[in-house]
Amino acid sequence: MSDANEAANEPIAVIRTPISLDYHYSAGQSASRFLRAIAQGKLLGQKCPVDGRVYFPSRGACPQHGVTFGDEVVELSDKGTVVTFSIVRVPSENIPLELPYITINVLLDGADTILIHVLDAKLEDVRMGMRVQAVWKPKEEWTTSTANILYFRPIDEPDASYDSYKEHI
Ligand SMILES: [Zn+2]
Repeated sequence: MSDANEAANEPIAVIRTPISLDYHYSAGQSASRFLRAIAQGKLLGQKCPVDGRVYFPSRGACPQHGVTFGDEVVELSDKGTVVTFSIVRVPSENIPLELPYITINVLLDGADTILIHVLDAKLEDVRMGMRVQAVWKPKEEWTTSTANILYFRPIDEPDASYDSYKEHI
């Protein structure tokens, strides 16, 4: 039997079918405010009127209490604390770091919800409680996109105490 015939009898394990889908996303009031602010280099969260927790990014209503947030916003620092992290060894589009890289759950100062981002640091240095700060694209490249923040980077501050972030693990 020829090689071609043998190949024809092999079971097909994988079929690659690249697909793409273009769609328009209506950001809505809350996300629009958040995205317009990030185009100015500002990180806006919103405070729940029931328990005062600050959500970032805000979706305009509290997922726990079901109440809307209104127009009040809280401007957050671009500094935060690493709550948890993972080492990534699989390539991904739009990540400006070399493999392997670090993804972090970061609790921005003043926020009560975590943000998932990437950290530019040595793998052996990352740890829970590490203090980090956003590294932004050059200002002239800012758009209404979270991609304005390229990644986070460690800063020279003492680690945050476990008690300050343990509820976010
Ligand atoms: Zn709430």
